[in-house]
Amino acid sequence: MTVSLYRRYRPAQFKQIVAQDAAVQVITKALEEKRVSHAYLFSGPRGCGKTTLARLLAKSLNCTGQKQSVEPCNDCPNCLAINGGESLDVIEIDGASNNSVDEVRELKAHVSLSAFSSLYKVYIIDEVHMLSLSAFNALLKTLEEPPSHVVFILATTEPHKVPVTIRSRCQHIPFRKIDVQNIVKSLSMVAHNENRNAEEEALWEIARQADGAMRDALSLLEQVMALAEQELRLVDVSRLLGGGSRPELERWVSRVRSGDISVFSELQEMFQRGASPQKVVEDLFVIFRDLWIVASWGGGALQFIEGSSKEKIFLEQESKDWNPDHLLKIMDFCAQILPQVRMGMRSDVLSGLFLNKLIEHGSLVTKELEKTREPHSLPPEDHPAFKEKWGKVLASLLYGEIHIYCALLHASVFLEKNVLSLKFPDYCNYSMELVSIERNSFVLQQKIKEIFEGELTLRIICGDKTTECDLSQSPLLAEIEEAIVEIQDEPTSSLPFDDLPPTAEIRPEFGNEQEDDETVFSGLVDTVLRWGGGEVLLHKKDNVEELDGGITEE
Ligand SMILES: [Zn+2]
Repeated sequence: MTVSLYRRYRPAQFKQIVAQDAAVQVITKALEEKRVSHAYLFSGPRGCGKTTLARLLAKSLNCTGQKQSVEPCNDCPNCLAINGGESLDVIEIDGASNNSVDEVRELKAHVSLSAFSSLYKVYIIDEVHMLSLSAFNALLKTLEEPPSHVVFILATTEPHKVPVTIRSRCQHIPFRKIDVQNIVKSLSMVAHNENRNAEEEALWEIARQADGAMRDALSLLEQVMALAEQELRLVDVSRLLGGGSRPELERWVSRVRSGDISVFSELQEMFQRGASPQKVVEDLFVIFRDLWIVASWGGGALQFIEGSSKEKIFLEQESKDWNPDHLLKIMDFCAQILPQVRMGMRSDVLSGLFLNKLIEHGSLVTKELEKTREPHSLPPEDHPAFKEKWGKVLASLLYGEIHIYCALLHASVFLEKNVLSLKFPDYCNYSMELVSIERNSFVLQQKIKEIFEGELTLRIICGDKTTECDLSQSPLLAEIEEAIVEIQDEPTSSLPFDDLPPTAEIRPEFGNEQEDDETVFSGLVDTVLRWGGGEVLLHKKDNVEELDGGITEE
């Protein structure tokens, strides 16, 4: 009988454990400083290396081989016995099947006996959250003060189900899910050691399917190896998983845009081949999410997305044909429908709902709509000359007006006759308001006028809100032109505000209500407010005690 892959490739040293750096560091440091705790609680998702680390700790504690570091030698009788699961001093207990109080009492009776052939007795209790409450209570005292030669390692996937009294007596070490990239790396190494070639996409598909559990990934790899010829291909993985692989879904997403009704039957066929509706919805969500990220933030965002090189090429090309708003709505739909799918929604109902949603958001352009479109007519905003000029407008804002530049990054630009529309997605209300502030829209219009060499009306849209700014009618422009003329008339004065009398002169006498400074400043405050966008919350008069009612709120 052959030993399964995940047992053959189980890490034999601390440094071989993948993606659990923090947990490994805590344990190796404790070993180096000879301050190993008497009880540990390892928690984390299944198949992420909890039992493996527990065994390594047991080996390192009992290893009698010549060694420089805390790594076990894997050669001495103790190491070999633990590797073979034959050590009498490393006792592995399955908490799920030995969960009664009697079994814990029996364990307690043996704890005090000294170790058989090693320095330490190590008890590894897996799935410890399955113990009954009375079993936990029976364990409490032993866990608090075990004999000095005993180490308890409790492992669980659900630490919140372990009573606080137990948790507080252990050193709690959380483990994390292994990321897809690290699983792919390990799978590739294993395939290489087994003298098998493997397609990159096939390994990514297996790793994704494993959902962070290395054990599951290696089991799946073993099944694919049994099924496939010399080379492990994506089709073999798909055959095993029964349809709904990432490349298959990617192709489906591309076909959605073609408007062919066959997308409905294709989805149906995937389900008939055994794809799980839940997995399909989850995977579609991930694809639409990745597309949305690339469509919104551009190709630079690809470095933050997990995926094979082929998948990244797909995302980069496909994202150009999708509107981020639509993608967001489809993601919303996937998230909303997922609970119902988990409860067992019929697959044909699901396909129908998907079709309905995609048409609703205009992603699925139906044949009739397609026909009404004129062939090869580019909308003006897609014209290279327009794109270049708009790029120049953005570039001119980059220095000095970075806040406008940043806000505009969220906007889609449309051109119709002499109206330039900036459309912000619903969630970018703030950016829309920032651009709409008179001062900012004025600056933007100036830049547009300069670069497009003509008058364009600016329309700013977000959800139901629309603001229109016509540069020629801006009272601000007249005001500024006036101010500029004044400056030119009087070269010694550098600012129009200098024309105001010095503040000391206009300050009213205490109690003199007639001569109010409010009138002097009101015009100036108005201009500042319109330029900067804001409102007056508090106006405090000079020299007036607050209790006298000197504060007026506007
Ligand atoms: Zn050893």
